[in-house]
Amino acid sequence: MRLGAEPLALHGGPPVRATLLPYGRHEIDDDDVAAVVETLRSGWITTGPKVAELEAAVAQATGAAHAVAFNSGTAALHGAAFAAGLGPGDEAITTPITFCATANCVVYQGATPVFADVAEDTLNIDVAEVARRITDRTKAILAVDFSGHPADLQPLIDLATARGLLLVEDACHAIGATYRGRPVGGLSHMTVFSFHPVKHITTGEGGMVTTNDARLAEKLRLFRNHGIDVEAHRRQSSAAWRYDMVALGFNYRLSDIGCALGVSQLRKLPANLARRRALADRYTAALAALDGVRPPMVKPDVESAWHLYVIRLELEKLRGGRDEVLAALRAENIGVNVHYIPVHRLTYYRERFGYQGGELPVAESAHETLLTLPLFHGMADADADDVLCALEKVVRHFRR
Ligand SMILES: *Cc1c(COP(=O)(O)O)cnc(C)c1O
Repeated sequence: MRLGAEPLALHGGPPVRATLLPYGRHEIDDDDVAAVVETLRSGWITTGPKVAELEAAVAQATGAAHAVAFNSGTAALHGAAFAAGLGPGDEAITTPITFCATANCVVYQGATPVFADVAEDTLNIDVAEVARRITDRTKAILAVDFSGHPADLQPLIDLATARGLLLVEDACHAIGATYRGRPVGGLSHMTVFSFHPVKHITTGEGGMVTTNDARLAEKLRLFRNHGIDVEAHRRQSSAAWRYDMVALGFNYRLSDIGCALGVSQLRKLPANLARRRALADRYTAALAALDGVRPPMVKPDVESAWHLYVIRLELEKLRGGRDEVLAALRAENIGVNVHYIPVHRLTYYRERFGYQGGELPVAESAHETLLTLPLFHGMADADADDVLCALEKVVRHFRR
């Protein structure tokens, strides 16, 4: 039987897969379980040695001088916004093609996020658009390594340096990515990672900020611990009871339980990245022959960490929109998704900051074409082939 001749599952035909393939999934193995159990029995379940061990391991893996753990990527972003000195009246320029937490951290600090449009090819923030939006109030640029593909870091660093701004890099998708041969994490003024289960490595919930600046690292440590100037274990070891609170911080501490899991997971990051690359290559090779979709582009001077595999639908060649294609693929049990609804189109941002649509044309029109295919390191080649089979079936159905 000719592939694609069967009716779509959406129309009552048999689905390509019997069970749903999610777009992302974590992997926990016996080593991870043993590491957590050991910490549970160790007597230190928070602010203990595993926190320092994970921080040192992430600093080493990313080439950064300092790493400060937080209990989510969002808390880590908030810490970075604090350390960057953002406050009421300040502006930070960021991208609309991201998870809302990237912009929210600016709002948490009472500052204003200013969205700059993205480049059509990578969907990363467009440096020329950033430059156009710098004002006397701008304090920081908040770039995102969308899908795991590093942003244009050197031009952004040059721009930030020339204008006296800090570059914060949201690398929640990009642990293990490289830019011009160097790992992300030691390149921007601050780099933020997430250890949510859908990301490359997990601590249950968790995050990290890396930096080469000791003063920023100190501010980050203060902020995650109520603004108090010493950490609990240091107080305990010196038996001092006195403490001072010097800024308004939060309890954003990551537990030793989570960090033990993170240390164990980080050991497997190289294999995880290699597997994601192999799956991405498999997709890209097959999609070259499928008219109606465009595989993601990778610039020659980067290695993507492949958190997401985001294709673009060539809507002019199709009879349906992205939403119809997505629904048809879901019916085939392929857990496709959309990353992202542009942040300035979300109700809170529309109402609070007055965005009406049309302000960021590249991001807005790209959004209509975006489709994220399943990609995670535990995926089998046969799973990827199911995705390709379903995509071919559905795209053929919709092709003009
Ligand atoms: C996951 C993610 C975050 C938030 O991380 P959490 O650990 O879930 O708080 C922020 N920014 C981006 C781009 C993300 O993908």
